[in-house]
Amino acid sequence: MDTWDVAVVGGGILGTSLGYWLAARYDGRIAVIEREKTVAEHTSRRNTGVVHRPFYLHPEKRRIFARAAQVSHGLWKNYAAAKGLPFDEVGTYEVALDDAGMDVLGTYTEWAVQNGMRADEVALLDGREMRQREPNVSCVGALLSKTDTVVDYRAFTTALRKDAEDLGATFLMSSGVREADALGDDLDIVLDNGQERFRARFLVNCAGGGAVELAHRAGVALEYTALYFRGEYWIVDGSVAGLVQRNVYSVPRHKDLPFLDPHWVVRANGGREIGPNAVPVTGPWRYQGLALPIGLWLEKLLEPPVENKVRLLRNPEFVTLTMGEMLSSISKAEMLGRVQRFLPALRESHLVRPGTAGIRSQVIDRRGGMAREAIEVPGPHSYHILNYNSPGATGAPAYAAHIVDRLATRGDLDHLRKNPKPLKAWSWEPVAKAMGLAA
Ligand SMILES: Cc1cc2nc3c(=O)[nH]c(=O)nc-3n(C[C@H](O)[C@H](O)[C@H](O)COP(=O)(O)OP(=O)(O)OC[C@H]3O[C@@H](n4cnc5c(N)ncnc54)[C@H](O)[C@@H]3O)c2cc1C
Repeated sequence: MDTWDVAVVGGGILGTSLGYWLAARYDGRIAVIEREKTVAEHTSRRNTGVVHRPFYLHPEKRRIFARAAQVSHGLWKNYAAAKGLPFDEVGTYEVALDDAGMDVLGTYTEWAVQNGMRADEVALLDGREMRQREPNVSCVGALLSKTDTVVDYRAFTTALRKDAEDLGATFLMSSGVREADALGDDLDIVLDNGQERFRARFLVNCAGGGAVELAHRAGVALEYTALYFRGEYWIVDGSVAGLVQRNVYSVPRHKDLPFLDPHWVVRANGGREIGPNAVPVTGPWRYQGLALPIGLWLEKLLEPPVENKVRLLRNPEFVTLTMGEMLSSISKAEMLGRVQRFLPALRESHLVRPGTAGIRSQVIDRRGGMAREAIEVPGPHSYHILNYNSPGATGAPAYAAHIVDRLATRGDLDHLRKNPKPLKAWSWEPVAKAMGLAA
């Protein structure tokens, strides 16, 4: 039976970045285990495709994500140049639709600098300046983040897999992990088909939409549950691509649910889309169909722990908003209406067909609260990353370095021989310094 020194479950952008750094820093048998045939088959390709600058992230409450996004911007920029991949610094307007929104933008301008952006990378524009620059955009003002960038995260992940393999990591594809049971000093790992199994000295759970379920099967993170929200997009007719040449986001109407407001998005292929919304669905791979059937919902709601969901459903604001999201899945006009608040010239006839939907796996805690940051949970011979949400694709290289550092500090990698290798793509030392890592 095969034995791996470290098994990373999940070949999304996070698991692949982790495989890269582990192979770059250590000698040992390192495997990335992925249930699909290719890497980045789920959220890591089904997203908005923006390398977000961290102006909108609270420097303390979202410190690790803010740092990871700041550090990773430079890493992706160098990576795209080295591999000849798209990296189009189109910039993003974050628009305010009322005076309260302008106050938020004032705060964002300060956070941008606190999070390490140069002051000249952002500009606060009033309504008059915006009308001159962008006559099609209706707002009372905007923050322009000049270096927000559109990319193809699937292409990044695919290239990174190759680099990780060149450094010695093995990618086991079409291998869904069903069980991971501690057995003496090892884990006994059973694949979905129930036949194949192998041993691992240590497992890192980077399974995205499958992460909470895998953690539960390993007997950890039992206090958390996950709800799934499908983000849908509409492709915009090329004839109106010139309405705005940059991304347009609006200041979130609900501070705690920032993923509810759709954007005008520039894609790496030059196209334009609007989205995403956030339609509740019963599972992490449910890309099509309505939010029903009821039977699956009952099963989801009764799955333990039940109290997290019950507490959330007692929140009338959440329930009302959720109904609106369901409606936006059925009605094109509903999502359009949200975008028309800042782009009134956009018409229903301009939305030509649905784009590629992606699913957000949202962790709910015991109080019924939606977790904001990623959650790291140690388990027996294992470490579990839950709630790794936006801007997770942006921050993946630096966040994965942070995970390697955490594991090394905890002694979880003591069974590997440290052997830092010369790297072409990214160097460890500057990332470690910028992220404040110990190792
Ligand atoms: C609609 C939407 C838009 C977004 N837009 C952006 C954006 O513009 N910029 C940004 O920075 N971030 C964005 N994000 C967030 C970002 O895409 C995610 O944070 C990131 O892709 C998560 O990567 P991951 O590797 O953790 O998860 P995933 O990409 O989901 O990868 C997890 C992998 O684990 C595999 N897996 C699951 N269970 C098992 C198992 N049991 N055994 C084996 N394999 C398993 C899955 O097949 C999958 O390939 C967006 C997210 C959504 C939902």
